[in-house]
Amino acid sequence: MSSTRQSVTVIGLGPMGRAMVEVFLDRGYEVTVWNRTAARAADLVARGAHLAPTVAEALDANELVILSLTDYAAMYDVLEPATTRLTGKVLVNLSSDTPEEARKAARWAAERGAVQLTGGVTVPPSGIGKAESSTFYSGPREAFDAHRPALEVVTGRADHKGEDPGLAALFYQIGMTMFWTSMLSYWQATALARANGLTAGDILEHAVDTANSLPGFLSFYAERIDAGVHTGDVDRLAMGTASVEHVLHTHADAGVDTTLPTAVVDLFRRGMEAGHAADSFSSVAELMTKPA
Ligand code: NDP
Repeated sequence: MSSTRQSVTVIGLGPMGRAMVEVFLDRGYEVTVWNRTAARAADLVARGAHLAPTVAEALDANELVILSLTDYAAMYDVLEPATTRLTGKVLVNLSSDTPEEARKAARWAAERGAVQLTGGVTVPPSGIGKAESSTFYSGPREAFDAHRPALEVVTGRADHKGEDPGLAALFYQIGMTMFWTSMLSYWQATALARANGLTAGDILEHAVDTANSLPGFLSFYAERIDAGVHTGDVDRLAMGTASVEHVLHTHADAGVDTTLPTAVVDLFRRGMEAGHAADSFSSVAELMTKPA
């Protein structure tokens, strides 16, 4: 068993898969790799990785197989030609996709004698191998525990969320929900700044302070959302609606794209129409949970 833990197969050599191979090599693992575009393996082979000529041989090399592909559709493309070699394998799929796709793939793997651990890496390639970086996992706890040392090479923190193979994907997508829209709000802010003669550097301190103010809001509203309390004692949706309209008009006046501020105003107005003017703007979360 210990020799299994010291060797690993990595399939998929995009920026993430490559970073993973690098850290496994750094930690003395024997690493077998396979990639659709074999040329991407050249520098890793020069560092000591074995390039399997076929997917079947990459699977044969190790019980533990890490998949780092664009999505789960790519996994089927890669593994379909070698399904007879999947028996007994632990497939750690670190590719992004929906919880439903992760569950479907776990059933697909089980039908072929393999176990799937779903993973959601929360850091970019530069965070791979770092003690403070973390990855969500879900799927069979036994497989997670057996391969934990290798998973902790990928990121120092390996957080098993439960047996449901969709859970890790769900946690990952929750993070992405916040990440993409938050970053888009930052692009929006820089566009508004630039339209007014300010650089991204000029507003950086203010942008960082604004982002740093958010954790307090998250904690305050989490309790209220769980309790279904949207009392307008701290903020009122009517005030919020006026504010987001000011934001929209500021962008329109500056000739900046208004797609994002318009979507925000639409949601606030829907809350007003639903009768929440005197409630907190957290009442918008209820509209999102139960759309009309
Ligand atoms: P890429 O999309 O760059 O990875 C592409 C990999 O998937 C390559 O190995 C590519 O092969 C392979 N691939 C794609 N489609 C197919 C296919 N149909 N058949 C065979 N191989 C295919 O992504 P990253 O390396 O950046 O990320 C990998 C996963 O990790 C993604 O799901 C991503 O969402 C997730 N992730 C990425 C982060 C990041 O910052 N990069 C952060 C957190 C998660 P080829 O080389 O031949 O094109």
